[in-house]
Amino acid sequence: MTKYDVIIIGAGPAGYTAAVYTSRANLKTIMLAGDTPGGQLLLTSEVENFPGFRKGIMGPDLMTEMKAQALNFGTEFRSDFVTKIDLSGITKKVWVGKDLYESKVVIISTGASANWLGLKNEQRLMGKGISACAVCDAFFFTGKHVVVVGGGDSAMEEATTLAKFADKVTIIHRRDSFRASKIMQDRVRNNKKIDIILNTEVIDVLGDNFVEGVTLKDTVSGSESKLACGGLFVAIGHTPATKLFKDVLTLDGKGYIKSKPTTETEIPGVFAAGDVSDSRYRQAITAAGEGCKAALEAEHYIENI
Ligand code: NAP
Repeated sequence: MTKYDVIIIGAGPAGYTAAVYTSRANLKTIMLAGDTPGGQLLLTSEVENFPGFRKGIMGPDLMTEMKAQALNFGTEFRSDFVTKIDLSGITKKVWVGKDLYESKVVIISTGASANWLGLKNEQRLMGKGISACAVCDAFFFTGKHVVVVGGGDSAMEEATTLAKFADKVTIIHRRDSFRASKIMQDRVRNNKKIDIILNTEVIDVLGDNFVEGVTLKDTVSGSESKLACGGLFVAIGHTPATKLFKDVLTLDGKGYIKSKPTTETEIPGVFAAGDVSDSRYRQAITAAGEGCKAALEAEHYIENI
């Protein structure tokens, strides 16, 4: 068993930023990072909106830099999944298989992942015209026709953002009405660049090396058709990685940890930062900001126990 001041579970921008801050504050810190440290940014190509990189930076490179920065300050790192937790006492207990780690503070930054459609060619064309983040990638679709799938606020927002760059945006939704708020629907309906196709599912994505079109299925008649396009944005929700915490922390209706307006959870000494507790902004920079907040709040908590 090894004792730490801070255990950080999950290694994306929130976790790495928290680690930089806690290690730099001389708090003995370990990150338990799961098997894909870096999280969603590993699926992104160029990140152009993270301040400090005027030419942009590749998502995986940004994560490599953040990790190196945390390690420089003494953060320990293990690339395995946490299997069990006991956060109830003043000493927090975290297991990776049979290995027990103890700490004064746990920062949860396990992130969330975009839901995908599960199409035959979806994974193959990931990052080659398929995206789940218009704020990140819309610029790359300048002048193209792009399809957005979904009927919630995210789909409306993705379409509106994309319409600033793309020539044409087509929202495809499986039902006859959107669940998005009226104001966001109105924004879409008033945008001349945006078309809407209802009662339709995207059943495959086409293209050899880049998206060239989608196969559609009418959910009423069952008939299939093809639609040419140069990009596919999937906006059908995200799933936060909170399975481990569902019995010990309050989650909201969508499974996100409740930890606002600070990063404190209802358990003293347990903080949540980044997409695991944020269904709204979901940006690398907001996650990093929350990682910083969690670290400062953790430091303050440790000083006072
Ligand atoms: P959401 O509200 O859960 O909507 C997901 C949409 O995807 C639904 O229309 C759903 O269809 C569709 N969908 C789900 N699975 C599908 C599948 N397998 N195939 C095809 N379509 C599928 O998710 P969200 O839009 O990401 O929003 C999440 C939360 O963030 C919401 O509370 C939202 O209000 C909030 N948000 C707010 C803003 C804002 O205020 N600026 C922006 C973005 C998000 P059905 O309708 O048929 O179920």
